[in-house]
Amino acid sequence: MIKIKKYCYGTCFLMSIAINILFSIYLYAGGGDKNQEISYRSSLTWSEKAAAEAEAVAAINCSGHGRAFLDGLVWDGQPVCECYACYGGTDCSEMTPGCAADDDSGDPIFLEPFWIQNAADSAVVIPGWHRMSYRFDDNTMMSTELEYYIRKLHSIVGNAITERRYMVFGVGSSQLLSAAVYALSSENSSSPSNVLASIPFYPMYEGQTVFFNSENFKFEGDTNSWQANNSTNHMNAVEFVTSPNNPDGELKKPVLVGKTIYDHAYFWPHFTPIPGPSDHDLMIFTLSKLTGHAGTRFGWAIIKDKDVYEKVSKYIRVADLGIPKDTQLRVLKLLKVAIKEDGKPLFEFAYNKMKERWDRLASVFTKSTRFSIQKRHPLHCMFFNETRLPSPAYAWVKCEREEDEDCGAVLEAGNIKGRSGSTFTEKDRYTRLSLIKNQDDFELLTQRLTELVSTENVSVGTI
Ligand code: PMP
Repeated sequence: MIKIKKYCYGTCFLMSIAINILFSIYLYAGGGDKNQEISYRSSLTWSEKAAAEAEAVAAINCSGHGRAFLDGLVWDGQPVCECYACYGGTDCSEMTPGCAADDDSGDPIFLEPFWIQNAADSAVVIPGWHRMSYRFDDNTMMSTELEYYIRKLHSIVGNAITERRYMVFGVGSSQLLSAAVYALSSENSSSPSNVLASIPFYPMYEGQTVFFNSENFKFEGDTNSWQANNSTNHMNAVEFVTSPNNPDGELKKPVLVGKTIYDHAYFWPHFTPIPGPSDHDLMIFTLSKLTGHAGTRFGWAIIKDKDVYEKVSKYIRVADLGIPKDTQLRVLKLLKVAIKEDGKPLFEFAYNKMKERWDRLASVFTKSTRFSIQKRHPLHCMFFNETRLPSPAYAWVKCEREEDEDCGAVLEAGNIKGRSGSTFTEKDRYTRLSLIKNQDDFELLTQRLTELVSTENVSVGTI
């Protein structure tokens, strides 16, 4: 009897060790990994209809020159195709003759094919009762899980230090830009903070600072000109450092020694080699130029200082009571795809697309003496572990002929619409052309540019 008992204890002891070992393997060798797919039921009940609806609208034939959406116009009980520029007809198959290449806006549709390829992993179903509360369970307005994935993404890409930093979500990075100006400005209205940016700069900085007219800050324009007249006290300045810069793609550095807002909208491996992680007091990123989902309106700020963090949070709370929970769910789903295989599928797709566009564009401009584009310098990219040329979101075109003072007008005569230099407080001898729109837009742009450049010698000869 005693022998049997001893035998039983021994077996139980060995079994408990085995179970513990198996559990530890599960936890530490990936079983407990956050990246694992959530387990799901194979038989669906209420979501089938939503899924069928989503697939039906996605299957509507728009000839590859448009797309139908669930929230678009409906004709005869069927959502209609929304055609890309220069295409029309019920199925977008008709090209509008003589249509201008519109390369004005920075709409990042170049990534749409990636998301179509990753349809199964990136789709979300939002039940009618999804997070109806203003707050999450932990009484905050930000999803902890999403914050975790953003930090993970930065550590994979190596473009920003997030350890021991605070994070705030915004309605696009646009909202965070003005929250940052508010947070860094002096509260002493007798000497408002001077908000500055270096020419050529993104016009929103001035637009917002002027629009949100405050006693605490005022827009003072170009950093270099301001510095020339204020060589000593920079502590009351708030400088926007846009790196890479919109419009010219340059990795800008601050001009002053003072408070800075690093706008890193384009600091992703498809637009620039990543020389190392950014480690500044206040850095702002956006989903718009990372995954291409500008319409989702989501951005985040990474902040070192607790007081600044609290002010940025207060701005978001007062403006909006936080970011929509539906948006946060969608962003979470997209970022889970973005970090797959350590970001390789997304960033390789995006980089290859931008590189191909730059190669084609550069070969057109090398044939021109009338137009030039910005110089690009190779840099070592820590993410791709290779030295590469940048492939910025925009071509910053200069009209070289003395008489071509209005470069936008010269391009417009060639049926190309860009954004004028003066929009960026630069001379109109410059124009910005967007390279991140859809493939049709890019094809038309290269076609029109090739035609324009091919007439150069002819027109010079006939003058
Ligand atoms: N910063 C820069 C430099 C930009 O070019 C843009 C968008 N074009 C933004 C911020 C704003 O982006 P969003 O509000 O879509 O995040």
